[in-house]
Amino acid sequence: MKLLFMGPPGAGKGTQAEIICKEHSIPQISTGEILRAAVKNGTEMGKKASEAMNAGQLVPDEVVIGIVRDRIQEPDAKNGYILDGFPRTIEQADALGKMLEGMGQKLDVALNLDVPDDELVKRLLERAQKDGRADDTEPVIKNRLKTYNDQTAPLIDYYQKKGILKPIDGLGSMAEITDRIRKALA
Ligand code: AMP
Repeated sequence: MKLLFMGPPGAGKGTQAEIICKEHSIPQISTGEILRAAVKNGTEMGKKASEAMNAGQLVPDEVVIGIVRDRIQEPDAKNGYILDGFPRTIEQADALGKMLEGMGQKLDVALNLDVPDDELVKRLLERAQKDGRADDTEPVIKNRLKTYNDQTAPLIDYYQKKGILKPIDGLGSMAEITDRIRKALA
């Protein structure tokens, strides 16, 4: 099963992807996590990415496309994966489509978690207090939401046109949302 989880920052993509990955024994491929690890380890890629991440902007397409290209060829991704936080631009989505075609693979479902902006800001500020993520401050949160609306939201229409979009209502308890996702994938 090859899935992608889309949704604005704070929609709960990462948490839900983790649960569904465990249930299906497939890896969760989060470009945000991979980038945060690179920043922490002070790698060349981390140095290139940190400025954009701290400003709530997107890291250049070629960097994240390279990450995903390498990661989906790892042996544990053979039977499927969830892409969490990638693609985030039409260019990334086109590159992913070509990459998969070249590997004789295709995406089964693009899941979109739908959550209104005011709820997202509330959740992200709560997460900031709990986890202390460097990009969970109010001005950066506002920027991340703007980046999402400008550059990533058009992907909803993109995958709708490809006929693989499953919209999920992202309001409710964690368990309720997991249940909606399970039903959409059944
Ligand atoms: P996330 O953990 O998915 O919210 O990602 C955290 C940050 O990493 C984002 O605000 C971006 O700066 C960067 N990032 C993660 N995934 C991507 C992507 N697919 N394209 C560009 N930047 C990304």
